[in-house]
Amino acid sequence: MTKRFSAQREMIRDALTMLDHPTAAQVYDHIRRAYPQISLGTVYRNLGDMAAGGEVLRLSFAGAPDRFDMNTADHCHAACVWCGRIFDTDGSLPAALLRELDAAVEKSTGIAVQSRAMLFSGACADCRPVH
Ligand SMILES: [Zn+2]
Ligand SMILES: [Zn+2]
Repeated sequence: MTKRFSAQREMIRDALTMLDHPTAAQVYDHIRRAYPQISLGTVYRNLGDMAAGGEVLRLSFAGAPDRFDMNTADHCHAACVWCGRIFDTDGSLPAALLRELDAAVEKSTGIAVQSRAMLFSGACADCRPVH
């Protein structure tokens, strides 16, 4: 990897850490403020490579652009319908529970689960008092 490419990766990693489960377009918007030379295509390509390499998670939710996540541990997402923030479940929702769910899905459908596109939604703790 050349120096320039690794610098781009570094900026993408920083953006993913600072932003909340961003789309590729949000990563691009964040980076181009400091580095206007970068193109949306470069960001897409890097995110795709990073997702394929297991460095980031690609989250596909129906009817919405893919989002990217630096947290590669097996976890679930919950979105606030009011402020749009996406929250990670913590380690207390064990991966074992997810594997149990996978097994139940396989038993019921015959599909050996490789990935899930699950999104829980509702009002977050900040928004709940006003809605
Ligand atoms: Zn909220
Ligand atoms: Zn996450």
